[in-house]
Amino acid sequence: MPLADLTLTELRDALRRGETTSVAATQAMLNRIVAHDNTLQSYLCVTDEMALEQAAAADTRRAAGDDSPLLGVPLAVKDILCLAGAPTTAGSKILEGFIPPYNAYAVDRLLAAGAVILGKTNTDEFAMGSSTENSAYVTTRNPWDTGRVPGGSSGGSAAAVAAGLAYGALGTDTGGSVRQPASFCGLVGIRPTYGRVSRWGVVAFASSLDQVGAFGRSAADTAALLGVIAGHDPRDSTSLDAPVPDYEAALTGDIRGLRVGVPREYFVEGMEPDVAAAVRAAIEQLAALGAEIIDVSLPHTRYGLPVYYLIAPAEASANLARYDGTRFGPRAAGTDMIDTVRQTRALFGPEVKRRIMLGTYALSAGYYDEYYGRALKVRSLIREDFRAAFEQVDVLAAPTSPTTAFKIGERTDDPLSMYLADVFTLPLNLSACCGLSVPCGFDGAGLPIGLQLIGDTLQEARILNVAHAYEQTQPWHRRRPVIKEEETTDFTDYAD
Ligand code: GLN
Repeated sequence: MPLADLTLTELRDALRRGETTSVAATQAMLNRIVAHDNTLQSYLCVTDEMALEQAAAADTRRAAGDDSPLLGVPLAVKDILCLAGAPTTAGSKILEGFIPPYNAYAVDRLLAAGAVILGKTNTDEFAMGSSTENSAYVTTRNPWDTGRVPGGSSGGSAAAVAAGLAYGALGTDTGGSVRQPASFCGLVGIRPTYGRVSRWGVVAFASSLDQVGAFGRSAADTAALLGVIAGHDPRDSTSLDAPVPDYEAALTGDIRGLRVGVPREYFVEGMEPDVAAAVRAAIEQLAALGAEIIDVSLPHTRYGLPVYYLIAPAEASANLARYDGTRFGPRAAGTDMIDTVRQTRALFGPEVKRRIMLGTYALSAGYYDEYYGRALKVRSLIREDFRAAFEQVDVLAAPTSPTTAFKIGERTDDPLSMYLADVFTLPLNLSACCGLSVPCGFDGAGLPIGLQLIGDTLQEARILNVAHAYEQTQPWHRRRPVIKEEETTDFTDYAD
């Protein structure tokens, strides 16, 4: 099997057995980036020299007996997490040229585990979007069909892993930005419980919703990554001080007797029939593996989208106030201070400006209680829905997104249709639960479909095991896209 076709855990085991080296695996990834990323545009910055140095160091460490969990494994990082010494743009012109002096906690954990960092991947500007088309730099393409989006906002990470341009990657999920692109690209993507992974060094979007997640080709890959990045970090006051289980050891594949709830509100009109059929078939497969399927209701689901689009922009408007040209990124040459700030902030793209305006309005005097305050109250009702459901069942199973990957440009003029891509993922972010997407089939056009598995607070091991059990009998995750080379018009040489 070509080196690039191995999963992360298979590569790790091959490295352990001395069958290959980190330098060989890293070079294989870098070669594929050169061959395919002009088309896919999944990376904003390739840290090739640093990666090869890390790979050589990993091989030396291995020869000296080191067996760190990700020693020598080449990975990608969404360009919203800080990597010391490399540009971190959050997909925005307002951070162009910003080079952080420190690593995000999750990045530090990867490096401490011996991983090789190949580069930073494209993202919607400040992670606001569902297609990666809101990036101020490039439009990432879906490796399964380069005329389509990879999902978003962590679309660069998803496309890179799906195309074999990295063995795994980090993303962030504020409303669905790991699970939805995982679903569109045929990967396993996990959004851990809020607080499971520190937000230290992650460019803030909506602080009560943001969470770092991971993409792998299999449940085992994703479990291996989560085991490394999870943990308590005193520098993030919302970081949970709870022991980190051995997620890989929890993958027994045994789900007999597990109670799987199917929320009826997650099967709606307007869903693509192929998606509904594949998800239903996957749930039947869980029953065949010995799970008990139970119909449940999450009655406040329909408020998820409006509540999210009040809370997320409100928090974003506060977080993004810091970009005024004083401390980070470029500064426009204005006539006075106000003019400088105004001109600098004009560097934000249209979606970010829309969110700042919506959020500022929702927080303004006289409207605060009416909008933000009320959204917080409904958020508690949504949390309560999940809490009540988990008194009855062990996990929830539902579609990740109502559709498969849509065409580039198809939704850019209609923000609401873009927001709807996350209608099944964002209620979870308003709750205290965790969730993942696992490949569960393909539609008639050959595009991947994702099954969403939702677990109660800190039940990551359980949902990973359900995904693993499913994969053992339905190995959709083994399929690889054939990347069709296409002329792209928007390639920039930013990565150089
Ligand atoms: N698509 C949602 C948004 O635009 C979620 C994004 C995310 O999870 N970062 O806000």
